[in-house]
Amino acid sequence: MFSIQKWVMLPQLFAHASQKLTHHGQQFLPFSCLLCQQGLTSGVVCPTCSKDLTQAYCRCLRCGLPLPSTQGNCGHCLAHPPQYDRLLACGLFCPPLNQVVFQLKYAKQPLFAKILGQRLACEVQQQTDFNQLSAEPLPELLLPVPLHPQKEHQRGFNQAQLIAQHCSRQLDIPTETRAIKRVKNTQSQTQLTRQQRQHNMRRAFKPVGSLQGIKHLAIIDDIVTTGATVNSLTKVVKQAGVKRVDVWCICRTPTTPSLF
Ligand SMILES: [Zn+2]
Ligand SMILES: [Zn+2]
Repeated sequence: MFSIQKWVMLPQLFAHASQKLTHHGQQFLPFSCLLCQQGLTSGVVCPTCSKDLTQAYCRCLRCGLPLPSTQGNCGHCLAHPPQYDRLLACGLFCPPLNQVVFQLKYAKQPLFAKILGQRLACEVQQQTDFNQLSAEPLPELLLPVPLHPQKEHQRGFNQAQLIAQHCSRQLDIPTETRAIKRVKNTQSQTQLTRQQRQHNMRRAFKPVGSLQGIKHLAIIDDIVTTGATVNSLTKVVKQAGVKRVDVWCICRTPTTPSLF
């Protein structure tokens, strides 16, 4: 039997029980944020972390590098236009975006490709006014930058391919992984100058499949620095008959990133 004291205590007991339930509810939510481990009902990243991965800055519409004020083309692109038509980046090489790229690429945690692929798809939707009448045409195909087979074997996966697959699912654009092969096993480019990188990437890719009928595609990469790799790949793709080549990447950086 309840004593009068217990009746008086009831609201407090309920409050305590509900606190406990919330606590356990957090623990038993079906998913948790891959970045902060907070419980989630769906998805892979919580709204707070998702916001942290979003960067707003004025950028060159051609190469994606930051501009001091209004958007347009930077002086370098006006003087020396790159091979590709437009580069779209999620952001610059800074935390937490670069840390997620690091987790994927060097800590070999392919699960992080989902965060990046979905972030890239959202960025594309935002920057191309995806659902608007004025929306820019989207590519017919996504082409992840191929790794040399030896490098892919060593790493165990191609990070650009994993990012592309998740992006592909969200935007409903197919991914092509067999049309172009990397035939030159280039050394790490981090210590090379712009000229050395361009020389290094010369004849690095070779068409081995068909891109027939494709007029517009997007190359997918994790980090674009000088653009030597994506320019070299664009050249091969355009020689194969593709008219427009966009580059979609996670991080755009004017200088060689020092990871750690
Ligand atoms: Zn989180
Ligand atoms: Zn530019």
